[in-house]
Amino acid sequence: MRRPLVAGNWKMNGSRESIQALVAGLEQALSDVEAQVVVCPPAVYLDQVAAGLKSSRIALGAQTLSEYDAGAYTGEVSASMLGDFGCRYVLVGHSERRALFSESDAQVAAKFAAAKAAGLVPVLCVGESLDEREAGQTLAVIGAQVGAVQEVLGVDAFVNAVIAYEPVWAIGTGMTATPEQAQQVHAAIRAQVAEKNTAAAEQLPLLYGGSVNAANASALFAMADIDGGLVGGASLKVDEFTAICRAAQG
Ligand code: PEP
Repeated sequence: MRRPLVAGNWKMNGSRESIQALVAGLEQALSDVEAQVVVCPPAVYLDQVAAGLKSSRIALGAQTLSEYDAGAYTGEVSASMLGDFGCRYVLVGHSERRALFSESDAQVAAKFAAAKAAGLVPVLCVGESLDEREAGQTLAVIGAQVGAVQEVLGVDAFVNAVIAYEPVWAIGTGMTATPEQAQQVHAAIRAQVAEKNTAAAEQLPLLYGGSVNAANASALFAMADIDGGLVGGASLKVDEFTAICRAAQG
């Protein structure tokens, strides 16, 4: 039985003051929610959020990490630094990182490996563009993104990991994959992981992301292979995010 998981990606939003209010609101609103909830603030606010969440069951995540351990990599943050600041999860290969910062499949796999080596739970983000979907390439694109990580990390790649399916055309656009479209991709991902490691596939939380909100979350989360969500815009609103977390626990 997989525990539902909902992660909030705050992206590059917030200030010391607004984040203080958001954390206080979430801590109160989510105190009785059984799903595993994760929040991923901008890196400079990790310490502040960790302190604010000290007595809560909400876990802390980062939005990206360096593939390197330490050294002359100006501006980068390593996996062990994230662990030092209380992070348990880290997003890897978000489509904005792939598109705006040119992260390749190989670099994403290296970041994923760095996260695992430091004991963090990587949340691998995969997804197709609208052109790729319309050309019937969705499953091939996702298969290659997942395969790039399997190639580097082998059969245990997705033990203690999470995969988030986020169609690029659905992120921040208000367009959501239908539950059936999302389920088809999730089932394919689980089958691909199962080819290498059945137990890992059974336990692997598969999240859907792309304009999830309080109104569409229940139908998405009701699908057999959708174990929760990766939420962008709606994770900045306490009421909306709380409703999504409640929808995840059925
Ligand atoms: C995201 O950034 O991962 C995301 C899914 O964003 P949104 O929910 O705003 O579409």
